[in-house]
This record gives sequence, structure tokens and C-alpha cells, in this order.
Amino acid sequence: MSTTTLSEAKMSHHDLLKDQVAIVTGSGRGIGLAIAKKLAGSGATTIITDITQESADAGSKEITDMGLKASGFVCNVTDTGSIEKMTTDVMNKYGRVDILVNNAGITKDTLLMRMKLEEWNAVIETNLTSVFKVTQSVIKNMSKANYGRVVNIASVIGMHGNFGQANYAASKAGVIALTKTIAKEYASKNITCNAIAPGFIDTPMTQKLKPEIKEKYLEFIPLKHFGQPEDVAEAAFYFCTGGSYVTGQVIVVDGGMFM
Ligand code: NAP
Repeated sequence: MSTTTLSEAKMSHHDLLKDQVAIVTGSGRGIGLAIAKKLAGSGATTIITDITQESADAGSKEITDMGLKASGFVCNVTDTGSIEKMTTDVMNKYGRVDILVNNAGITKDTLLMRMKLEEWNAVIETNLTSVFKVTQSVIKNMSKANYGRVVNIASVIGMHGNFGQANYAASKAGVIALTKTIAKEYASKNITCNAIAPGFIDTPMTQKLKPEIKEKYLEFIPLKHFGQPEDVAEAAFYFCTGGSYVTGQVIVVDGGMFM
């Protein structure tokens, strides 16, 4: 029988990711920042990356102000050069990457009939092609170390489709298929790859929706409230800590909206 005391249990929780380095893309704010905070809370050094140094530094400061470890790096996930530079700089500074969370994402919503090719391409590039590029850049280091945790932020829209989101739905469905492929290709390297499919989470991305659309969503959410970024962070934390025998899976965090 275990005789672990409460203080020992707390201590081990804080130390679970001690010495590990976690890169989270698009983590200057929103879900990415919440995930980074959660991982930092367990001892990881979190690499906050965003399009501008200012937003990366702003996210990183929130974490260091909590007495936790973080550092801001520029990484525009649509720019191969920017991705390669970030990976090289992180490896030069820390010598390892244990966790990669592909979180950066955008929406450009409009009905199929009106969707411009630029709107389609921008969303596919930022949400899907980026996961291919960033993972390819980072995973070779995990592979050499024979350890890694890759977590991709998909969406329930990628499983069910949605009015006005042809580009977004296709990008997130692609992320799910890519997740399963990475899981298969890298399992022998002790690298797991899983996805999280959030439903409606209260962030700047959803705050721009019209109030009547938000009300409509709420009708279909059995838990009767929108999710918080921290709810998504809990799932990411599971994949990075406890879920060592779980790979190629999608965990839905949507208050029961789709079941
Ligand atoms: P958010 O608040 O808009 O944050 C997205 C972050 O990604 C921002 O920091 C943004 O930077 C960054 N970003 C955008 N384009 C980028 C690029 N090219 N390179 C690097 N970073 C870039 O959105 P969120 O709600 O936290 O969304 C995070 C992820 O969760 C996305 O993949 C989204 O699709 C997914 N998701 C969200 C919901 C939801 O309800 N909120 C639901 C399902 C899935 P800037 O601040 O500079 O624009």
C-alpha cells in the first residue's frame, strides 16, 4: 500500500516535467498560453512561440511572473525559415525538446460559395501545413533522444464540419489524420502523438463571434457553459504526463456538445 504523504504528492506533481522542455506554438495568449502554464506548473521549461517577439515575450512573462520557467521565441508557423530558426535556437539554448504542442491556428469563416481561394489557403497553411512543418523540424531531435510527446490542437469541427468553416473543418480533419500517421511512424521511437478536439472555448478566437451565434452554441452544450482554455490544458497535460500508453487518439473537450 502507498504511504505517499500529501506534500510528497504535491511535490511530485510539481516535478513531473522537471528538466523537460516544451514548445507550444501560438502561445502568446489563449489556449496555447493556458497549456504552457499548465506544463510550466509541472516543472517544464516552456518555450512560448508566436508571430511576434512581443506577443511571445508577453506570454512568457506571465509564466515567469508565476515563478515558473518560460522563454519567448518568434515562430511564424507559416514560414519555414522562422520554424527552422526557432528549433535551432531552442536546441542551442536548451539542448533538448521533450514536448511539442501544435496549437497555432486561425479562422477565416464564410460560406463555401463565397470562400476565396486565399481564405482557403491561409487556413490550411496556418492550421495544417504548419503542423507538418513544425513537427518535421522538431521531431528529429525527439527521435534521437528516443522520447517525445506531440500534442496537436484539432477541433470538433474537424470531425463534424460546420457552416461557414469549410477551410477550418478540412484543416482540422487533416490535423487528426496527420496525428494518427505521426503516431504510427514514431511509436518505435517512444514518441506519442495525440490530438485534442476542443468544442467552444472562451478565447479571443471565439469572442469575435456574434452574441446570437454564441447563444445558439450554448443550447447544444449539455454542460451549459463554454469551456475555458484551462480545460484544454488539462487534456494536454494528461498526454504529456500520464498517457504513456496512449497514442494516435483524439480527446474531445466540448462539454458534451457532440456525443
Ligand atoms: P487565439 O486566441 O486566436 O490564439 C491563437 C494564437 O495563435 C495566437 O497567439 C496567434 O497569434 C497565434 N497564431 C496565429 N497565426 C500564427 C502563425 N502564423 N504563427 C504563429 N502563431 C500564430 O485562438 P485559440 O482559441 O487560443 O486557439 C488555439 C487553437 O485551438 C487553434 O488551433 C484553434 O483552431 C483551436 N481551437 C479553438 C477553439 C475555440 O473555441 N477557441 C475550438 C477548437 C479548436 P496572434 O495573437 O499574433 O494572432
